[in-house]
Amino acid sequence: MAGKLYLVPTPIGNLGDISRRAAEILEAVDFIAAEDTRVTVKLLNHLGLRKPMVAYHRHNCETAGPAVLRRIEAGEGCALVTDAGTPAISDPGEDLVALCAAAGVEVEAIPGPCALTVALSVSGLPTGRFTFEGFLPQNKKNRRAQLDALADEERTMVFYEAPHKLRSTLDDLAAVFGPERPLAVCRELTKLHEEVLRLTIGEAAERYAAQEPRGEFVLVVGGRPPREKAADEEGALARAEQLRREGLSLKDAAARAAEEFGVKRRQLYNQMLGK
Ligand code: SAM
Repeated sequence: MAGKLYLVPTPIGNLGDISRRAAEILEAVDFIAAEDTRVTVKLLNHLGLRKPMVAYHRHNCETAGPAVLRRIEAGEGCALVTDAGTPAISDPGEDLVALCAAAGVEVEAIPGPCALTVALSVSGLPTGRFTFEGFLPQNKKNRRAQLDALADEERTMVFYEAPHKLRSTLDDLAAVFGPERPLAVCRELTKLHEEVLRLTIGEAAERYAAQEPRGEFVLVVGGRPPREKAADEEGALARAEQLRREGLSLKDAAARAAEEFGVKRRQLYNQMLGK
């Protein structure tokens, strides 16, 4: 198999979610770079495969990355897998992809399971535009700063979270977005105890204050509803007159001021004409 890096997604819980193509690539490559070889060997056993593996994870990526790259450059095919889901999404795979891309090595991504898309699609919240925030910073001050920067975000927001940090994250979300903001708590997706709760941030905080959070979580938070423009008729008229003095036509001045002040264009136009 020619020198190439294959990004091979693995199940996020249900082993049945490994695709035929992912299994074929795992069989065909020369070696597998795995986040945890003990986790990946279970998947290989399930598929009836044996394959040489090297460890590639957060704590060794600086040395393991160049070593993997050298083998690919020498003509070997490598499959990158993580413990679960799509490599390079909130895991150190992104560094290996960047390394290979910078070296001009071909990288091919195989589509497959990803907690982000599973949670977003089942959330019941708008999916047309969204922002993926991954894990919030560990440090309390940095977490709040990152959330504060999202206070006016109108798109749906997706967060990964560990169970032991869930309670404090829900409190932070309530403080920044308000307790009434809709939220989908997606837990143990594709697993036996899969659960999707569609509630408000306040309700989720209450629930998990009384119940120990267990398992893996994705939080999908509704965006801020677009602000209604408060209609300001007097302000609109004053602004339109100012625009007229600046040389705009009556029609253009009325249109621009109406847009800025949230009033009806025709009504403002008539007002300006003294009707
Ligand atoms: N690369 C992975 C992907 O494609 O989703 C994500 C890796 S990240 C290190 C692990 C996080 O993904 C977990 O902390 C959790 O937030 C989320 N996650 C993974 N599997 C999950 C599952 N079955 N249910 C809910 N969340 C999951």
